[in-house]
Amino acid sequence: MIAVLKRGTTPEQTEHLIAWLKNMKLDVHISSGQEVTVLGLVGDTSRVDIELLSSLEIIESVKRVSEPYKQANRKFHPNDTVIQAGNVKIGGGHFAMIAGPCSVESEEQIVGVAKDVKNFGADILRGGAFKPRTSPYAFQGLKEEGLRLLLEAKKATGLPIITEIMNIRALDLFEDVDIIQVGARNMQNFDMLQELGKTNKPILLKRGLANTLQELLMSAEYIMSEGNENIILCERGIRTYETYTRNTLDLSAVPVLHEITHLPVVVDPSHATGKSALVPSMAAAAAACGADGIMVEVHNNPACALCDGAQSITPAQFLELNRTVRAVREAIQ
Ligand code: PEP
Ligand code: MN
Repeated sequence: MIAVLKRGTTPEQTEHLIAWLKNMKLDVHISSGQEVTVLGLVGDTSRVDIELLSSLEIIESVKRVSEPYKQANRKFHPNDTVIQAGNVKIGGGHFAMIAGPCSVESEEQIVGVAKDVKNFGADILRGGAFKPRTSPYAFQGLKEEGLRLLLEAKKATGLPIITEIMNIRALDLFEDVDIIQVGARNMQNFDMLQELGKTNKPILLKRGLANTLQELLMSAEYIMSEGNENIILCERGIRTYETYTRNTLDLSAVPVLHEITHLPVVVDPSHATGKSALVPSMAAAAAACGADGIMVEVHNNPACALCDGAQSITPAQFLELNRTVRAVREAIQ
């Protein structure tokens, strides 16, 4: 349920109302914009007398929110959420280019790629240390050592870093990580989402291989309901009957999510297509439909990459991609 307050409502009146609502065992989330202040009420709202609430002097309007996601709902929070990672902002008009290898492979590799992508326009460095691989015989990532090397690359370039968590028991290792990624395969690992909700780290939540947008937002809700509102959503392609590409990039997810949620939306054209030749055009398309950021896999030697070489672009290709994406953003503004 949301209650919109009238302009001119004093802080004392607002506090008084919130105390009354909390007394009914409701959680109250305040969203104060320039135009309006919205109170989002979560919990068993059946005990709220909507007529009584609407009749209060300071209330402009009251509406039930039918969608099951509440805190992620734009109705609760009309303004775009802006996420801060290091000195980089994402959302609400701030765009972030995230680039780096699928996996951290060695110090030379990660520091080398980090320097290249920084020089060529990246805002944030990616690199997997814990890798969710379909085969148990495939390279599983350098794990703890990979995180250490990623932190070296952060030190060498000053770029904030993003890396994936696969098991909540490893959380302590992520202290200096700027954004924690929840991969597509863990989008519905509800225990892990709740634990991440108890931190204040920015979380990049990837859409599951076969999940709807509503399910994606319900997973965001698991994190938010524990107190962490720093969430970036990521469209990375879904499984369809098309086999030419690794997945099918659902670009309509971007404007749909912008309509129904206030959380920023990033697009990953690398995992969506699985083919490096398709990555630049899909990155440009993502920028054209309003994505708040793009995450691409870049490798100094894609042919020898230990993971996802076929979809990795070279630093030189990244330079070109970044130019195009920035030009598209200028054009649509
Ligand atoms: C990744 O970003 O390296 C990754 C494994 O992505 P996804 O979870 O989207 O498959
Ligand atoms: Mn990958």
